Amino acid sequence: MGYVLRATASNGDIRLFMAVSTDIVEKARKIHDLSPTASAALGRTLTAGSIMGLMLKGDKDNLTITMNGGGPLGNVVVCSNSKGNVKGYVSNPKADLPLNSKGKLDVGGAVGRNGMLTVVKDMGLKDPYVGQVPIQSGEIGDDIAYYFVVSEQVPSALALGVLVDRDTTIKAAGGLLVQMLPGANEMLGDIITFRLHEIPPLSSLIAEGKTGEEILNMLFDDMDLKIYEKIDIDYVCDCSRERVERALIALGRDELLKLKNEDKHIQMQCHFCDKTYEFDEKEIESLIDSAK
Ligand SMILES: [Zn+2]
Repeated sequence: MGYVLRATASNGDIRLFMAVSTDIVEKARKIHDLSPTASAALGRTLTAGSIMGLMLKGDKDNLTITMNGGGPLGNVVVCSNSKGNVKGYVSNPKADLPLNSKGKLDVGGAVGRNGMLTVVKDMGLKDPYVGQVPIQSGEIGDDIAYYFVVSEQVPSALALGVLVDRDTTIKAAGGLLVQMLPGANEMLGDIITFRLHEIPPLSSLIAEGKTGEEILNMLFDDMDLKIYEKIDIDYVCDCSRERVERALIALGRDELLKLKNEDKHIQMQCHFCDKTYEFDEKEIESLIDSAK
């Protein structure tokens, strides 16, 4: 479990989302056996995904973030819903890189910078909303902030941090999204950018035991900070045998017959939670019957 605080500052001109997501990133690390760099990349994206999920308007809306930068991690994929619950995976969870020139995990290098950041929002309409921007740094926070500016025309800053311990477990993770609402004084943006650079990294503050409330107070206590909601978030996979069956049936009769002839047994693994679903010959036959 983790949480996100919704807040405003400067008489509502600034919208804030502060996430503490340590346990969620640790859960993802355990499920996928992530390398430290993979933990940082997926953890940052999960944290951002949770915040972006909470910004969705409808209860049943959901969104998917995909980064395909061409780096050794392959694709980084995160899905989230309007409750802020998330799930995700990277194509190559064991890929790792040496620390970068600043002595930090080289997330940008591992994600890669030759590709697109894509956000798909399913809002129950016939066609989903698709927003896409070229990946800038591959460090994820900058990339998603750039997406907000270009695709949604909202000036935004997004700080994301994952601190990996020596034994590769997750010591701390969190994120802070700052958005300027239309009509806000442009000076405010400069002040906030300055303050975000002045404070220690979010993940270090969380590792020291600072709460989300305390971090928001450090940054905005003289700016009419109002924290008005605390929402629990978690890593949740909603896969089920029924869903896997539906996906198999959707392959069609011919494809299923082919699978049955190749092997009398089908094994399907969920990308998000690594759960395995098995189908024996009899069960495959009943799927074939359903796939008219
Ligand atoms: Zn699953």
